[in-house]
Amino acid sequence: MIQQAQFVISNTNPGNCPKPDRAEIAFIGRSNVGKSSLINMLTGKSGLAKTSQKPGKTQLINHFMINEKWYLVDLPGYGFAKINVKVKQGWESMISTYLTKRENLCGVFVLIDSRLEPQKIDLEFLYWCGTEGVPAVLVFTKADKQSKNKTNQNIQKFLKKMVDIFEEAPQYFVTSAESAQGKEELTSFIEELVQE
Ligand code: GDP
Repeated sequence: MIQQAQFVISNTNPGNCPKPDRAEIAFIGRSNVGKSSLINMLTGKSGLAKTSQKPGKTQLINHFMINEKWYLVDLPGYGFAKINVKVKQGWESMISTYLTKRENLCGVFVLIDSRLEPQKIDLEFLYWCGTEGVPAVLVFTKADKQSKNKTNQNIQKFLKKMVDIFEEAPQYFVTSAESAQGKEELTSFIEELVQE
């Protein structure tokens, strides 16, 4: 159960993240995948993560303290259609430093839009996670938007692609911020992760 969720700090520099004195889990995905909505659904706070950030905005690593026990981190999204090379390089360097160097990081939830066929940008990002040993977990979002059948078809296609990347397919969850589908499963899984 997430009882308490408080904003702590926003950074552009991974070196300025809070002291790594407790477990941390992070959320990432292409822009518009439903990351803010999912974080708000999980924490029960509608305004905690800002929804639909525009590409021109500064890309920040946002730390939230949960139950005084662990950090939830909202990472800036990737895959904006219109983004200049400098911003893209800045994102890559910030994110790769954070994901490979953050010592208390115990899970990275990579959000995937359940309505779509496997997207190159998500597969590339997951491939990079695989080569770097980043502890990726898949979260398929917006499951309320189509039939269960269609969601399952897309998930199966995506999981097939994972076989090329990971020896063991990453764990996955199916969610909807609209209906709160997956909330309990994801919350218990996170609680186990931060317990270890
Ligand atoms: P972010 O850019 O990844 O943080 O995405 P947002 O959380 O801002 O969501 C992008 C858009 O998708 C918004 O219009 C949300 O209302 C919508 N959205 C997000 N999650 C869901 C969901 O589970 N179901 C439905 N139907 N819409 C969603």
